[in-house]
Amino acid sequence: MSKSQKYIDTGDKYLLHAYNRFPIVIERGDGVYLYDPDGKEYLDFAAGIAVFALGYNNKEYNDALKKQIDLIVHTSNLYYNEPAAYAAENFCRISGMDRVFFTNSGTEAIEGAIKSARKYAYTRDNRADHEIIAFEHSFHGRSMGALSVTGNAHYREAFGPWTGSVKFAVYNDLDSVRALVNEKTCAIILEAVQGEGGIRPAEAGFIQGVRKLCDENDILLILDEIQCGMGRTGDMFAYEGYGIKPDIMTSAKALGCGLPVGAFAMNEKTAEKSLVPGDHGSTYGGNPLACAAVNEVIRQFESRDITGHVRRLTGEFEAALDELCSSFDVIKERRGKGFMQALELDIKASDVISKAQAEGLLVISAGANVLRLVPPLVIEKEHIDRMKNILDKVFKSI
Ligand SMILES: *Cc1c(COP(=O)(O)O)cnc(C)c1O
Repeated sequence: MSKSQKYIDTGDKYLLHAYNRFPIVIERGDGVYLYDPDGKEYLDFAAGIAVFALGYNNKEYNDALKKQIDLIVHTSNLYYNEPAAYAAENFCRISGMDRVFFTNSGTEAIEGAIKSARKYAYTRDNRADHEIIAFEHSFHGRSMGALSVTGNAHYREAFGPWTGSVKFAVYNDLDSVRALVNEKTCAIILEAVQGEGGIRPAEAGFIQGVRKLCDENDILLILDEIQCGMGRTGDMFAYEGYGIKPDIMTSAKALGCGLPVGAFAMNEKTAEKSLVPGDHGSTYGGNPLACAAVNEVIRQFESRDITGHVRRLTGEFEAALDELCSSFDVIKERRGKGFMQALELDIKASDVISKAQAEGLLVISAGANVLRLVPPLVIEKEHIDRMKNILDKVFKSI
C-alpha cells in the first residue's frame, strides 16, 4: 500500500465526513509545487484556496515564524505584544483603514464586521432592528452570522430559520440594491470580486454606485476582501482598483499565508460609534505567532513588489486561458481579475479537476461548472505555460 493510501484510509475512518476530499495527500511544498509522500509532484494553481501567495518553503517566512515560536506563541489580548502592535500598523497602512481587529479566520472577520455595523447603527439610532443588504451568489463564511449574509441557499438551507434582518440584491444591479434600501438599512456587504460564487468581478459603475448610495444614506459599506484581497487582483485590496474605500473591510486567506489569521478593519468614523470594551473578543485572535506571520507576509509583499508582479503577468495568464477558451467548445468563457481567474464550462468542473490532478496540476472549482485558478502570486511565465499545456491535454481528452 502506498503511504498516501494509508493516510487516506485513516482520515476516512476518523475525520468527520464534512468534506469530499480528493484522494491526494500533500506532504510538503517548494515554490509553486506540492509533493505527496510518494514523491508525486503537482503544479499548484489552487494555493490552498487562495492562501499561500508567497510560495512554499519560503525561508524568510519560516525563519520569522521559528523566531517568534522561540519567544512566545500566545499571550491573550489582556496584554500588548510587539507582533500585534506592528501587524496593526502594517495592516492599516496597506488597507487605508484606521483601526483593525485580528481574528483566527475569515468567517470570524465577517462576524466582527457585522457586529461593528450593527453597533454603529445602534449607537446612532438607539434601536436594534437594523437590516443588512447582501448579494445573491455571495460567500462570506460558515458561521451563523456569516451564513446569514451568504446568498447561496445550498449553504444555508439546513441551518435556518433565517430572520428577515438580511435582504439579498442582485450583484452588478444597482437598482436592485436601491429598491431594498430603507431607514433600517445599516450596511451593504459585498465582495469586489465574488469568489466561491463563480469568480465574478464587480462592474466599476455598480460598486461606485453602491458607495454613493451608502454615503447618501449613512449606510456602512462592508467589503469582504478575504479572497480577492492581498494582491490577488493586482492591487493590494481589490477596492483600490475601483477607486473607492469601504467603511469596514475584512481580510483572511493570504493574510497569514497559512497561519490561521483574519482581520476586520474600519475607518475612524465607524470606529467612534462601534465596538467598545466588552462588545467583542477572541482568546487567540491576533496572537503573537499569527501576527508575526502577518508582518512577514506584508514585508515580503512590499519588498518583492508582489502586486506589481501580478499586474505584469496578468496579461500572460489571461492570454493562456483565452487561448484554451477559443480552442475548446466546452469552455464558455473566461472571467476574473489578476490572478483570480475562472473558466466557465459546459461540463462539470470536477471531471477536469480530476484529470488535471492525474497530469500533475491542482486546480479547483467555484460552483459546479466553474474551474477556478488562484495560483500562488509568485508564479512565473513558465508555470502559466505548463498549466496551459496540461489543461490543453486534459480538454483534448474530454
Ligand atoms: C473563504 C472566504 C470566507 C471565509 O473564510 P474562512 O477563513 O474559511 O472562514 C469569507 N469570505 C470570502 C469572500 C471567502 O472567500
